[in-house]
Amino acid sequence: MIVMKFGGTSVQDAPAITRVAEIVAGRLKQQPTVVVSAFARVTDTLLATARAAGSGDGGRALQLSRELRERHYNVAGELLGTGLFTHFHSELEQDFDALDELLRGIAAVGELTPRTSDLVVSYGERLSSKIVHAAFLACGLPARLVDARQCIVTDATHTRAVPQVDETNEQLQRRLQPALAAGTVPVLGGFIGATRAGVTTTIGRGGSDFSAALVGAGLGAERIEIWTDVDGMMTTDPALCPDAHRIRQISFEEAAELSYFGAKVLHPATVVPAIQKNIPVYILNSRNPECEGTRITARGARCRNVFKAIGAKKRITIVDVVATRMLMAHGFLRSIFEVFDRHRCPVDVVSTSEVSVSLTVDSNEAIPAVAADLAALGDVKYEGRKAIVCLVGDNLRGTPGIAARTFNTLGDINVRMISQGASEINLTFVIDEDDVPEAVRRLHAAFFADLDPEVFA
Ligand code: ASP
Ligand code: MG
Repeated sequence: MIVMKFGGTSVQDAPAITRVAEIVAGRLKQQPTVVVSAFARVTDTLLATARAAGSGDGGRALQLSRELRERHYNVAGELLGTGLFTHFHSELEQDFDALDELLRGIAAVGELTPRTSDLVVSYGERLSSKIVHAAFLACGLPARLVDARQCIVTDATHTRAVPQVDETNEQLQRRLQPALAAGTVPVLGGFIGATRAGVTTTIGRGGSDFSAALVGAGLGAERIEIWTDVDGMMTTDPALCPDAHRIRQISFEEAAELSYFGAKVLHPATVVPAIQKNIPVYILNSRNPECEGTRITARGARCRNVFKAIGAKKRITIVDVVATRMLMAHGFLRSIFEVFDRHRCPVDVVSTSEVSVSLTVDSNEAIPAVAADLAALGDVKYEGRKAIVCLVGDNLRGTPGIAARTFNTLGDINVRMISQGASEINLTFVIDEDDVPEAVRRLHAAFFADLDPEVFA
């Protein structure tokens, strides 16, 4: 069997859902289980709705809910046609009436708990899965609706509940296996689950990928397909470099390194359950289903090129701390990191010498306060408008001369910090934000001119 997960943009309206039905119909032989996100932007709207109710603004909450109701009715109506929709309508109506009652209750109390927030937000995936299921039936697909809350068993950490793997696997077997054996396509919402006691939970934003990985791992899927609205992962941002190519195969570790650089396609941490079981994960485009996408596997394929991709992240600030008087003293780094920790300011790249430390952080308002605290430890300077550029590839391990080639290629571009990551698969440096397009173009021309056709499209 396989798992096919469709993200919010892949189910954003009736034409998108029709495309999904066609894609699934083309894979019936492979026994798909379908996991869907809420329609695009619905989770955000539900959160805003819940917050409005929590602040006592019931009017605003009900207004937002009315808009959601209209959108879901319209999509379902368009997909099902008048005849079928008349029948289905009352089911959606019940859900929205229950949601409105819940919102009135929250507004009356004027307090939103994480538990209630999860219940409100769960309507996104509950509704999308119902509508997708109805649409499948309407076009003759033998689908079966499954309530994800009966499959994904979590703890009670609301808004980021932790799935309990053994119990979840047991429920998945129990609820999905018979449906698959009967030749039907189970359809369930991602992102939501329930505690053992049956209280609705959510497993963290973007959690539908995680749901898909859990389902795939629990049922021993041959593959997991994450359907989105891009062709896959690219060698670099095509907006920076029009020569960017699609990556056909990448290792999990490489994908994880790149995820930091705005590869918004998928957060690799969410597919760990699949990778641990050696199940390949594919990124595919529901607007361009012919494209073979990007395949992510535990161990990467052999590749002629040193690197798989170049990532770049702007809006970075460098913080330099120089402390001659700390020469040879221990505990210096710890005192520095404690300051960042106190301000909840995550540090990305670090390079040190005997008397100085340079660190990068995402530009944010906390930096002046951080710098003021650091001043107790040494002379502090900080400078914004910097960017992190990162070259990623398994082959960096054990290929000599790459650093020299990289910095030769950069030529006259001023490099402010360098770090070769502990993972041994990334070479990272910091430059001025304005130099990013030129740096990426030069590096891409140097390292991606002659591409291994097995690995790049
Ligand atoms: N709908 C949820 C969210 O927007 C989960 C998902 O789409 O992955 O975060
Ligand atoms: Mg997503």
